[in-house]
Amino acid sequence: MDKHTYIPDAFLDDVASYLPEHLQLQDFVAACQRPLKRAVRVNTLKMSVAAFRDYCADKQWHITAIPWCPEGFWLTRPQEEEQALPIGRTDIHLSGCIYVQEASSMLPPMALADALEGAETVLDMAAAPGSKTSQLVALLDNQGLLVANELSSSRLKALSATLKRVGARNVGLSHFDGAVFGDYMQESFDAILLDAPCSGEGTVRKDPDALKNWSLQSNIDISDVQKTLIKSAFHALKPGGTLVYSTCTLTPVENHAVCAYLLAQFPGLIEIEPLHGLFPDADKACTEHGYLHVWPQLFDSEGFFIARFKKLGSQSSSTPKTKKGRFPFTAMEKKAQQQLQQYVQQQFAMDKLAGRLMQRDKEVWLFPDIDDEQLFTAIKYSRIGIQIGTTHRNGVRLEHEFATCLGQYATRNTMALNPQQAQQYFHGQDIRLDEPSKHKGEVILTLNSAPVGLGKWQGQKIKNALARDLVMDGQLITWV
Ligand code: SAM
Repeated sequence: MDKHTYIPDAFLDDVASYLPEHLQLQDFVAACQRPLKRAVRVNTLKMSVAAFRDYCADKQWHITAIPWCPEGFWLTRPQEEEQALPIGRTDIHLSGCIYVQEASSMLPPMALADALEGAETVLDMAAAPGSKTSQLVALLDNQGLLVANELSSSRLKALSATLKRVGARNVGLSHFDGAVFGDYMQESFDAILLDAPCSGEGTVRKDPDALKNWSLQSNIDISDVQKTLIKSAFHALKPGGTLVYSTCTLTPVENHAVCAYLLAQFPGLIEIEPLHGLFPDADKACTEHGYLHVWPQLFDSEGFFIARFKKLGSQSSSTPKTKKGRFPFTAMEKKAQQQLQQYVQQQFAMDKLAGRLMQRDKEVWLFPDIDDEQLFTAIKYSRIGIQIGTTHRNGVRLEHEFATCLGQYATRNTMALNPQQAQQYFHGQDIRLDEPSKHKGEVILTLNSAPVGLGKWQGQKIKNALARDLVMDGQLITWV
């Protein structure tokens, strides 16, 4: 029990005013004071759920399936291991095979999941640090274009690092107030997730100070931002498209009232899609409107709110805008493309790289392949797709992301790292081999069968190509 959790009386009075009749305030308070169970999501871009189950059995990690997400599990590690090695330093985490994500935070992407089938364009309007973006990328199986937007610069960096670790290659990263999408990218997206900035009332089990600055006025203030964002999301959505609105807060001011605002702004043009059938027991959290209001005591999780809408008809934004300024990318020259494809085929026995090969000065990028090219130029992106290489006199030098995002397609010149070699690799050292190797040139290194980076065969060692900013220190992977 965390009795240090700060729960102000004014907050409890407010909660009591909207707590559903079948729930008790003391159960809510008790749940807020219980520590949160750790949950992880298997990143199916790098590991199958079956392989994850085998890994856990082998390691004596205890897992329980999360009922609303086939890739989600509550996870307990043996105490000795838990104390000796943070989960972020285990091989399964370093290789991007799992993502630590609170169980209820897996709900909004699941609420959007069936709308992602066949979707070409998806927007995640408030995306950092990227738990839901990475879940969306996996659900999309890296296909189509997922625009992941974030307003805060420091959080954008965290989002970018998340996407690199999980092997995302279909993301356009942008750095705007989400309010711009309705004007600059009208009716552009098949599906939108607005996981809105909120007062975070549902997060006290993780952060005992989450309610330190709580006030009804701050709820009201933030709901103004949420209304602006949900209106922008409506305009950015294609007719027939699906919008999921979510928050990790409990107050109706930031939840039901924001949804009511959306419905009132666009009568007849948007309708609720009820979520009571999202998973067995979902009706326990379902409101009369069909929203999910997840109280922490219901499923032993954080508090969350999720609503799903379908756009029925068109209404253009009153202030449509077009981006000015030059697009800094050009298609890579045909001959250079062929050379690169040939090299990749020869060295790694990889098929043709799927996507558009683009260039910005010396950088070589692989953009997602989508029909509507205008989406690449409609706004300014911090990055699109992945940078797979840099040109130099004799061709293209491959970059780390080539390996982490495409390495799974290599069938030649790959090497599985053992725990000691993996430590050497992440510590930025060259990797020692038991015997000299006859191989030459570049090699893709794997851990738990997932690609983690590039090296170069050099006799009895592999030269480490890990960028300095990715080098880690301290205890990794093993703790004995
Ligand atoms: N979806 C994220 C995830 O699952 O990892 C969590 C998003 S968090 C609830 C809301 C995010 O919105 C914060 O990172 C915040 O910096 C960002 N934000 C705040 N105001 C914004 C705005 N006007 N437009 C876009 N993003 C905004």
